[in-house]
Amino acid sequence: MAEGVQSSLFFETPEEIYARVFRELKPRTPVPELRVEFCRFANADSFIRLESGRLHVRITDLLSGAPAPVMEALAHILVGKLYRKPIARMYKHRYRLYLNRKDVRRQAQLVRQIRGRKFISGPQGEYFNLDEIFERLNARFFDGLMGRPQLGWSRGRSRTMLGHFDPSHNAIIISRILDQKALPALAVEYVMFHEMLHLQHPVDHAGLRRRVHTRDFREAEKKFPQLKEAKELLKRL
Ligand SMILES: [Zn+2]
Repeated sequence: MAEGVQSSLFFETPEEIYARVFRELKPRTPVPELRVEFCRFANADSFIRLESGRLHVRITDLLSGAPAPVMEALAHILVGKLYRKPIARMYKHRYRLYLNRKDVRRQAQLVRQIRGRKFISGPQGEYFNLDEIFERLNARFFDGLMGRPQLGWSRGRSRTMLGHFDPSHNAIIISRILDQKALPALAVEYVMFHEMLHLQHPVDHAGLRRRVHTRDFREAEKKFPQLKEAKELLKRL
């Protein structure tokens, strides 16, 4: 082997990487039996658990081709979390940087699309019809040109997530808490309008931070005439 060309890192199996990281984080504890598995998850999550003295790591198969340093970073994150050890920023950074790579993001989205089954209710709520609201806003603010995505009500009545646009399923989901008789349509309209703007303004992935509400987005949102009243209504939910 050429001197200094490869570190041992590149010749380790995933189990060996986890064993090494384990020794680093828990030097006084004997390394438990380890099993690392790549699973066909619908997203980029990975899991670790300790079961009858055995460490079981399940990694998204999105990472099965990831470079060893990325696998090592994930090992630090997972083992660190399991034993509540501080995780060095370097590892978090390295892992995030990899997931944020354009090709990796693209693949993650494809996988979500293909594997992720999503429950999407129909547009008809008890009091509001989301198709009607969408088309009303479409005509009023988008010259009727916006293609209608799937529209549905959330299962739960979330106050913190009043709506979201899911690009991998091309769906806008509105919180069921807005489907209330006493609530003026304006509140639902505003939430829908906000989500429609997400269809128009893609997320800015420049650098590490995802910028969801860009300046253009904020400007466009101001065109909603009763923005203030709508926000007031939502505050009082
Ligand atoms: Zn938003």
